[in-house]
Amino acid sequence: MINIVNKQDCCGCTACVQRCPKQCISLQGDEEGFLYPKVNVDDCIECGLCEKVCPVIHPYEKRIPLHTFAAINNDEEIRMQSSSGGVFTLIAEKVIDDGGVVFGARFDEKWQVVLDYTETKDGLAAFRGSKYVQARIEDTYKQCEKFLKEERKVLYSGTPCQISGLKHFLRKEYDNLLTVDFVCHGVPSPKAWRKYLSELTSKEFVQQISMRAKNRGWKDFSFKVDYDKDKSALSFISLATDNAYMKAFLSDLILRPSCHSCVAKECSSNSDITIADFWGIWEVNPAFYDDKGTSVVLIHNQKLEAFFKNLNLRYSKTSYEDVVKYNSALVRSSRPHKYRKLFWTEFEETKSFSKLVSKHTFPRGLQAIKYVIKIILKKIVGGGKINALSLPSRINKQEINSIYFREKRNSWKNYEVIIELKIISNN
Ligand SMILES: Cc1cc2nc3c(=O)[nH]c(=O)nc-3n(C[C@H](O)[C@H](O)[C@H](O)COP(=O)(O)OP(=O)(O)OC[C@H]3O[C@@H](n4cnc5c(N)ncnc54)[C@H](O)[C@@H]3O)c2cc1C
Repeated sequence: MINIVNKQDCCGCTACVQRCPKQCISLQGDEEGFLYPKVNVDDCIECGLCEKVCPVIHPYEKRIPLHTFAAINNDEEIRMQSSSGGVFTLIAEKVIDDGGVVFGARFDEKWQVVLDYTETKDGLAAFRGSKYVQARIEDTYKQCEKFLKEERKVLYSGTPCQISGLKHFLRKEYDNLLTVDFVCHGVPSPKAWRKYLSELTSKEFVQQISMRAKNRGWKDFSFKVDYDKDKSALSFISLATDNAYMKAFLSDLILRPSCHSCVAKECSSNSDITIADFWGIWEVNPAFYDDKGTSVVLIHNQKLEAFFKNLNLRYSKTSYEDVVKYNSALVRSSRPHKYRKLFWTEFEETKSFSKLVSKHTFPRGLQAIKYVIKIILKKIVGGGKINALSLPSRINKQEINSIYFREKRNSWKNYEVIIELKIISNN
């Protein structure tokens, strides 16, 4: 039976939990907030199915894609709402048009990330855009199997390990199943995300969170929170490199341990299509670069080349080597941050997630010199960065009416922050 001794050996796909005929495997969160299977040995009949369906014990073969494309969704609005070139929505819409079902990741009512399905095009909006948190898979593998057996067309999208887990869970090929994964840097801890959220200003009025907003371009992406305008009229946006949560994610402080030795690299998830950001497109094919997002599309299933080419998009054939050159996450796992262990030792006690992240990501050595030069240049050229978390603590944050981060009355270059407070009468 499955017994996780080394955390690197469990990607959290839950194939074992969902396949167990006795339903005697449950998920338990560890101190970093990642879920791991635990077998109730009293009910276990030692059938061994949990091990048979494990994608870490039985990884699939590495593959070179059959076709590699750069692609851009012709619908500008959808592309702007998507993290890369908006190809996911195009594929998903085609499946819905054919009467199918689409599985993807959305925020739940507490802003946690969960896998779910939709049967409508409107329902796809919630799946659009990357959510950099490990999603709860719930019983979506079972739901997917049920739809497949009813002969419905199904698109299941997810991380490479989730797709590998699904394929292992199903244990047979279905002609009516289309699987789409993406190049994955790794999935961050839901507990770190909860902690970050708890420090977010006016969190009770949050209406939308985009971890890949393109307001300042696709390349230098931003983290954006929109609040309920009637109640607090507040929204904030910060460059990913300035945002505490994104910094923790991108510097590999909070990834799941198995992400550091991922078994689904080099297209070995067994998916039909892999999508990704086409980093480096500005060098490889400048005609496909406008800083609004360009997708890489890797086709692994010969039957899907025509399907892809008939979507409402602009595409260009490209070489796989050019993709790998700028997107190492396709072939290599990221290394854990030097202070990852220390970070988690201090995590429970810390009063401020943001300060803890700053402490461990603060540049040292050569990095520190580069950092100081950057700050000096910024001072000379002007401008500045703002984060809603840096609001003065004496302001009761729920009384904020509006915030302008770029007030230009005095100057455009050295922009000012204006915070309007609600006047609350005692009468
Ligand atoms: C955790 C994570 C790490 C990533 N790392 C990289 C990387 O290193 N390099 C790279 O090129 N691309 C990476 N991506 C993928 C990239 O950001 C885009 O999502 C992808 O290129 C698809 O973009 P799109 O414009 O076609 O559609 P989008 O609308 O942006 O795609 C959304 C798709 O992503 C799925 N999704 C979103 N969040 C999650 C989640 N938490 N768990 C499972 N599925 C999710 C949705 O269900 C949907 O299928 C990552 C995405 C995530 C979620």
